Amino acid sequence: MRAADIQSELTEILVTEEQIREKLEEIAARVAEDYAGKDLLLVGVLKGAVMVMADFSRYLPSSVPMDWMAVSSYGAGTKSSGVVQIRKDLDTDLHDKHVLIVEDIIDSGLTLSWLLENFESRGAASIEVFALLRKPEAAKVQVDCKYVGFDIPNEFVIGYGLDYAEKYRNLRDVAVLAPHVYS
Ligand code: 5GP
Ligand code: MG
Ligand code: MG
Repeated sequence: MRAADIQSELTEILVTEEQIREKLEEIAARVAEDYAGKDLLLVGVLKGAVMVMADFSRYLPSSVPMDWMAVSSYGAGTKSSGVVQIRKDLDTDLHDKHVLIVEDIIDSGLTLSWLLENFESRGAASIEVFALLRKPEAAKVQVDCKYVGFDIPNEFVIGYGLDYAEKYRNLRDVAVLAPHVYS
């Protein structure tokens, strides 16, 4: 998919591939230092976090196990309700693990706060969150996110793992979807 093919479907590029790369490298260095000597497990939330996980994990200097969770959040239309259902659970026992949840974006924060509560009951040694993107203006609940890539405006974005109706995940940048596409 060439950028020119979808130009008319985007209004603005918010974060470029290059900015993402630099940020992932920077956060990976912090994580490597913070978790030195600890039993770290990366947990990616499907499907949006696939790109972040793939690139971020490869900037870490040593071998780190990763696992995946798929959840769906039910609510009116495109808004998250906080009622979360597990579609695919972890394969890993979290007991005594230092868990770092890897997320694409924090919008209302409802999904993540549910996930944090769920993980806390599984006996992890620690649980922290890395979200590539965060929309501060959209927050309905405060989520303690230790590592944040970029704070962005309260607009619907796509690319770098983020979809609209399963499209645009393979875009290299993060962009604002033009309203005419979904209206
Ligand atoms: P939250 O529970 O924080 O409202 O968001 C849950 C999920 O909704 C996110 O992990 C993400 O998959 C999806 N989401 C939230 N905002 C956006 C957005 O702007 N674009 C896309 N494509 N997905 C979003
Ligand atoms: Mg997500
Ligand atoms: Mg989606």
